[in-house]
Amino acid sequence: MTDIKKPELNFLWEISNVLTGNYDEQELINNLKTVFERFLFVKNFQVFMWDEFSSTLRDFVKSWIIIDKNKQSEKVIKIFQTLASESPDKFMLNGTLLDFNKAALELEYCFDNCLQEENNIVYFPLYRENKLNGVLELSFDEVLPNVKKYDFIFSIGIAIRQISAAISNKLMKDSMSKNIDFYKSMKNIAKLIETQYELTYILPIIGEMVDKFITDHLIYIFMKDEECYFRLVWPLECKDERIYNLLQTITEDNPSEVSENRTTGVWAIKSENEVIGAIAAGSYMDKLADSDIDYLTLLAKQISVTVQKANSYGEMLKFATLDALTGLNNRRQFEIRLNQEVATAKRKKKPLCCIMLDIDYFKKVNDTYGHSAGDCVLKNVANVIKQELREYDIASRYGGEEFCILLPYTTLNEAGFVAQRLRKAVEKTDINITEEQLAGETINVSISVGVSSYDESIKLPQQLYQNADMALYEAKRRGRNRVIMYNDIA
Ligand code: GH3
Ligand code: MG
Ligand code: MG
Repeated sequence: MTDIKKPELNFLWEISNVLTGNYDEQELINNLKTVFERFLFVKNFQVFMWDEFSSTLRDFVKSWIIIDKNKQSEKVIKIFQTLASESPDKFMLNGTLLDFNKAALELEYCFDNCLQEENNIVYFPLYRENKLNGVLELSFDEVLPNVKKYDFIFSIGIAIRQISAAISNKLMKDSMSKNIDFYKSMKNIAKLIETQYELTYILPIIGEMVDKFITDHLIYIFMKDEECYFRLVWPLECKDERIYNLLQTITEDNPSEVSENRTTGVWAIKSENEVIGAIAAGSYMDKLADSDIDYLTLLAKQISVTVQKANSYGEMLKFATLDALTGLNNRRQFEIRLNQEVATAKRKKKPLCCIMLDIDYFKKVNDTYGHSAGDCVLKNVANVIKQELREYDIASRYGGEEFCILLPYTTLNEAGFVAQRLRKAVEKTDINITEEQLAGETINVSISVGVSSYDESIKLPQQLYQNADMALYEAKRRGRNRVIMYNDIA
């Protein structure tokens, strides 16, 4: 064995320093390049990794962009294929295979023979578990004149093994963190369905979550309509005809299908073994990796559970009177009470008012802090409403972030005061977010409020809240965080 003299030792020492540092791809390669530049005067230093699914090499630094389809890349792919069929000790200098295992003098002789005065290109194999998974390309004009060449080639051999291991490690770490993201999303989806049961609300959130970690492919969610056609529910459009064609192929017994070239795929969403929808992924460039397919298979199952749960919630809710998230009356119950109260007001000639309120810029809360934080805000606003009202007032969650309150035996004037009191109470409430990651943060929101009252002119109960809703709309229009009386705008 050759003993490593000083410059070689320094070279290896610096390489291992770089490899143990906590760098991203770009920094890692730049720092390695600097070391190679200093000791070998290299001009170009580039790492290509093999991607099984697109059957091509990708640039390690440029976040997995396929290298350009030009002559140069074809050459690299050929070299990769040659090295893949050789033993791990082979490398290539200016198109000739050389062997690290050769005796010192012989290797040095071969090396010298292949050297040109300028523009030497050498490719080293990068291995992962005995399988070639990339190549390192170096180009240089001359080799250090005053060191023994063989010692250098030998140290590069060692360095290359270390670099291979470090890069494999890095790729593994990245795929692990993607795994963690995936399980986080699964957990969030599971959490989502504890309190939400409206599919029109749940599915877009799921779509966005999936979209975040399947980054190379567009994600679509379809549900079957009454006529058994797949209707897109997320995002707003799907122009990819290939997806529609693939959808035709899935059945109860064939719950998923990936296109032959692996760029598109569909996975059935099932309820009691019946296909009721599908999640789809498509790209015109990238192939679905095995891990993506695993994720999407699991996700389709999780969405199936979600949909089933939502449907059974829906069934249950036909008999329920309370909103699951806030504990206020639900919309259905509100409509029953509205009919009753309007009838009573009419019969007894007693006043009846209606307050409609909507959280201002609520979408921003969801977008900034996440929908769990949004849910937390909804609960808090509902609590403020409960606290501020009298026992016989009827508060309900009318829809997403809209609340409706019936105030029996209350004049319009009094209702106006109640509305202002509510608005101020919400405005000054510091809402603590209970989400783990955001614990300690507080949010403040405001509400816009519309108020209407019952009178002879109201023929149908719905008119009472429609009037309040118009006033609410006007409150939004005039800048939000305010109360508008329907009488003032009618
Ligand atoms: P504006 O001031 O005009 O009311 O703006 P806004 O952002 O509040 O209004 P918009 O109607 O555009 O947004 C309402 C958002 O409320 C959209 C929807 O995603 C969200 N939302 C509806 N239901 C729920 C729910 O149960 N939980 C959460 N977190 N968000 C919900
Ligand atoms: Mg709103
Ligand atoms: Mg709204």
